Order: sequence, then C-alpha cells, then structure tokens
Amino acid sequence: MLTVEKPNIILIVMDSFRYDRLSRLGYSRKGKKTTPNIDSFCSDSIFFKMAFSPGPDTRQVMPSIFTGIYPSNSGFSGVFRPIDPSFRTLTQILSSNGYATCGIATIPYIRNLNEGFDEFLETYRIRKFKLDLHWLKSLLWRLFNGYDKDTGYIVSRMKQYCQSSKKSLFLYSHLMNPHVRFDPPRKFKKDFVIQPKQINENVDKILNCRPSAHIEYLTGKITATSEEWDFIESMYDGEVAYLDDKLGEFFRWLERERLYDDCLIILTADHGENFGKGRLISHGWCLYEELIHVPLIIKLPGNEKSGEEIDEVVSTVDILPTILDYLGIKEKLDLDGVSLVPFENRQYHPCVFSEMIKQKGLKEKLDKLNITVNPPGVDGLKCARSKQFKFVISPNMLGQLFIPEEDPEEKIDVSTKYPAETEFLKNQLLQSLASSFGEESEEERIRQKIRQLKGKGKI
Ligand SMILES: [Zn+2]
Repeated sequence: MLTVEKPNIILIVMDSFRYDRLSRLGYSRKGKKTTPNIDSFCSDSIFFKMAFSPGPDTRQVMPSIFTGIYPSNSGFSGVFRPIDPSFRTLTQILSSNGYATCGIATIPYIRNLNEGFDEFLETYRIRKFKLDLHWLKSLLWRLFNGYDKDTGYIVSRMKQYCQSSKKSLFLYSHLMNPHVRFDPPRKFKKDFVIQPKQINENVDKILNCRPSAHIEYLTGKITATSEEWDFIESMYDGEVAYLDDKLGEFFRWLERERLYDDCLIILTADHGENFGKGRLISHGWCLYEELIHVPLIIKLPGNEKSGEEIDEVVSTVDILPTILDYLGIKEKLDLDGVSLVPFENRQYHPCVFSEMIKQKGLKEKLDKLNITVNPPGVDGLKCARSKQFKFVISPNMLGQLFIPEEDPEEKIDVSTKYPAETEFLKNQLLQSLASSFGEESEEERIRQKIRQLKGKGKI
C-alpha cells in the first residue's frame, strides 16, 4: 500500500472548528463559500462524514488523539499534567521509527504533548523570549491586515520545517482560528461579517467568552438577540474562511515544492463550538453535536482512495492507530482507537464515545444558583454515539437517548421508545470507559495500572 517508504506526515488540528461550517456540505455566508480550499483538499482525500471528538475541550482531546485512548481510560483530566510516561504517544512512536518530529502550537494547554518532539514551538513564548524573522514578518502583516492568532506565522514555519527536514517528517500544527475571541482579519470581516444595526455590550463578552460569560449567559444575566448571534456566527465564519485561505496557501506551496503527493496529511479539529444551544456558549460544557462532530479528512500518499466518503462513526482517537497501521509499524499498545486502513472490509466501531472532564467547583456554583442544564452538561457527562443514536449519561441520571438528525436540539429523550438501543449503547459505554466521572476511583487506578503493565509487556 505504501507509495513511499516513510512519507512525511502532517497532522493539522483546527481549534474549535465545527463540521457544519464546511462549504463542501453546502454552507455559505453572504453567498460565499467558507472553505473552498478545504473542499478541494477533500477531493484528494478520504472524507469522514461522521467523525467525533472524544471530548469538547482541547485539554482532554489532544492527549487522546496523541495516545489513541479515551480521557477517562487514560486519566488525562485536562490539567497541565504531563502524560504518564507509561503511555506511548504518536510522536514518541514515530520518533523511534526514524521520523524527525516538529510541533507548533499557539496555546500552552498542550504542553504535556511535547514528549518525543525534536522541536516543539510554542508561539506565545516567542513573544516573550525570542526574536524570529518569521515572527517579525507576521507582525508587519498584522499591522495592515488585522489580528490572525499566529496562523500566518505558523504556516510559514510549517513550510520551513517541511523544506529543511533531512529525514521523513512528522509535523503537528495546532491552529487557533476559529477559536474565541472571534475577530477575523479585515478582508475576511468585509467578506463574511454581517454587521447588526446595534450591538449590545454583552456581545463583546460572548465574543471573548471568558469563563464568567458561560455562567452569565446560562443565568440570563447576559443575552443576545438573534441578530446579534448572527453577527457572532458571521465573525466565526470569517475566522473559518481566513484559516481556509492559509491552509490553501500551505497546500499549494506543498504542491509547488513537489511534496504534496507523497504526504500523508490529516486535517481535523479538537472540538467544535456552541452558539447558545441549551443556554450554553463556547465549548467544554456539554456534548452537543456542535461540539463533538468534527471534520476528519485524511489524504494518503499518492492521493490513494481520494474522493471516498465514509459515513460510519469514527473517532479522532482512531488517528494514531491509522497512522501506525498505514506505516506498518507494529507496537504492542492497548488502544481504544482502531485503524481506519485498510478501507475494504474494515470493522467499524458500533459506537464512539465523548466525555467531559469535571469542571472544578462549577457544579457547586450552579447548585447555589439553582441551575440545571439539560442535558446536564457540567459534571462528568459522557455519551455513546452510533450512526443513528446518541446515548448521554451523567452521574446524576439514568441516561437519555437522542436521535440528533431528527431532533437537532437534542431535547427529546427516546429511551423508552428504543429500550434495546438504549441498553446496547449504555452497556457499550459502561464497558468501554472507566466508571468514575472525572474523578479517579480505585477501580480506575487499578485499570490504569493493568494498562501500564500490559504496555510494558509485563502481563
Ligand atoms: Zn480547543
């Protein structure tokens, strides 16, 4: 299957990118396509229509992508804890198989992923400690074009890494468009943003989305009209379009350098974004489809299987086993993810899982305010997603079943109408994920220990 011995591997993660914003699906804003470049990239790739993220927050999702293990099974609670050395990350495995490894990120939340990287560039550190020509160029660009969350800079460093690597390269790039605060560069504002006649001062709080804004929106202390939400979403779409433009620039550059064809490129998102559904904003607080349904687009070397669409449920925890399987790397690992190659006669998951980390002190705060969220999205929520159904459970409830396609608000519990499906998904979830909900239990500790010993080949 391999067209080159060790293809360059580029993993691009778009932070907070909603699946439904892909113009490939027919989406547009002000008559313009939001993602024309990603759409063309899709035609060289395999497009996964039902890819789900293991969670709604970067801090738990990225370690899961890099280990192929769901958050509660690995104990990655999303705080700034390094990954337990008994878990092998994608980077470490590729590095020990002869790959040069480079990572670029804008945010500090993924610092625990830097193990195994020959170089791990954190752009916020450049602001503090380093002078860099690419950085100066990007500052100059911003003077004339507006703020871009370092995406221009990162793309220029990605090119540099691809050009200068003497060995086969694994490049991980974490791009912060379209994460809050939504504020696209000027050209994209002009093309995509719908300016309302009046903006109430709360809109700025939603655009910024500080943690206090979550509670204020939930309690009704801040509100936004539908016209204002349209403005907020158009700002988000402007960010999406800007990111698409930069990705187009990068893919075209790879083509010009004759690097594109032989590359294995994976384009995905850590999670999506919520615009007020269930009185919740931003991300991290629930498992709505808007947050967990993400793009997953895989371009194989030689554009093998290009144009294929897969409509089975897959998870981004499948990325690691897929890459290893494609490269023929055999490692003894106890993974939750499965390989998405080969593409014929593959056994898909009957369902995939998403879970939230416990938000410290939040439940107490909400209890005080007498607030309940439905689905109760603030305390260890977990869900199992099959092609048709979504089973959601938290420590305080028996579990609810939704049909997202028919019930986009995810409000109508159909568990009594479909008892067998409910039972099946509940059992799958309980058997597959650690039983505690965000807190480490004795059982979870034992389970982890067993995994560690298995990983070391001791049992
Ligand atoms: Zn994120």
